[in-house]
Amino acid sequence: MSQLQRKIDKRKMKGKKDIKNLRPETLMMSYGYKPELSVGAIKCPIFQTSTFVFQTAEEGKSFFELAYGLREKGPREEMGLIYSRLNNPDLEILENRLTLWDESEDCAVFESGMSAISTTLLEFLNPGDLLVYSSPLYGGSDYFIKHVLTKFGIETLEVKPQMENDEVKKLVEDSGFAGRLRMIFVETPANPTNALIDIASCRKIADHFSLDDKKVLVTIDNTYMGPLWQHPLKHGADMVVYSATKYIGGHSDVIAGACLGSKELINRIKTLRTFLGSMAGPWTGWLLMRSLETLKPRMEKQTANAQKVAEFLNNHPKVEKVYYLGLLTEKNGQQYKIYKKQCLSPGAMISFDVKGGEKEAFTFLNNLKIFKLAVSLGSTESLAEHPATMTHSDVDPEERLELSITEKLIRLSIGVEHPDDLIQDIKQALSYV
Ligand SMILES: *Cc1c(COP(=O)(O)O)cnc(C)c1O
Repeated sequence: MSQLQRKIDKRKMKGKKDIKNLRPETLMMSYGYKPELSVGAIKCPIFQTSTFVFQTAEEGKSFFELAYGLREKGPREEMGLIYSRLNNPDLEILENRLTLWDESEDCAVFESGMSAISTTLLEFLNPGDLLVYSSPLYGGSDYFIKHVLTKFGIETLEVKPQMENDEVKKLVEDSGFAGRLRMIFVETPANPTNALIDIASCRKIADHFSLDDKKVLVTIDNTYMGPLWQHPLKHGADMVVYSATKYIGGHSDVIAGACLGSKELINRIKTLRTFLGSMAGPWTGWLLMRSLETLKPRMEKQTANAQKVAEFLNNHPKVEKVYYLGLLTEKNGQQYKIYKKQCLSPGAMISFDVKGGEKEAFTFLNNLKIFKLAVSLGSTESLAEHPATMTHSDVDPEERLELSITEKLIRLSIGVEHPDDLIQDIKQALSYV
């Protein structure tokens, strides 16, 4: 290596280190984008193109060798642009920026949260393998696991948030498929009641059933906490999935998803994504990059608002019970311990029981003026819905009761409006109940 080359490398390394010291919110405006490659445009343009021109046939050959894994990447070699199902600048820069929040090695972005989840499950589960999953799961994930994975001969086993480690281990052993356990898939906090599952305990169970030639993977759907409020990879998870439709997108105007983890795992997921064709397009990539610039201020405002709304609800005579992480105290025992260990904020999702039943819940919902009556969550505007008849209407009625999803339960997603206006809206709607 020449002396000059060493000098350049040293400077590059220093640049990398400097960037490492910057916080993600500082890097969201520029990370991974070079204006000089796009006629000086300050923002990454939308690369609305299906294919990319090679400078020479030799270059095309070398790009394909890397894309199809025919040879190893050189030490300073970067993957060239080929075709937008494989890679596109809007997708790649977005993926690099997303890795900063969870401090993951790599990221794959998809056209929906469901395609992130289904591609991840399909890549790692083979016929005869066992998948352990927590309930309640997001309706789409629940359907995919119960009706699609089982069609491919994948065994599935449901566990409840309140189960102890030993109880889960025994269930796995009794299933007769313990030797084929391949993945534990968990949503925490659980939707809609904010029940918490200890991610480090999931890791322990996974390690217990891992064999030398088969590591049991832990995958966490972190949509409810977004990339700010909980970092599952730091607690032992192998992969984190998001519906980027929620906090990451944050404006109720785009459907997208993401999966994060080690280079090795994400590389496998990206390969299957190439063949399923479930990657996000350039327009989605651009929209999400714009959203990421305000991710932190949005989420901080949402959680500050949620704490105020939850406290108001907690003191209201027509409210029976409030499910919000910010109201947990030591009296809540294990749940409080997990919250303190695992969550960086109580988030902005609140559920509560109104006194009465469906009639009272509907009266409240029909009288809201600022809160919009809609499913989904994590957006700038506040939303309200009725889980028992909407998001969770296909959950078995008996199981619904077990999970506290009763007719009096209402779910709120808190936005960035003025908290006093939100509280006033809830107050006037409750006055009709
Ligand atoms: C919305 C959601 C999904 C599905 O994401 P889409 O972007 O709608 O495909 C998955 N998991 C959770 C927890 C969600 O809230």
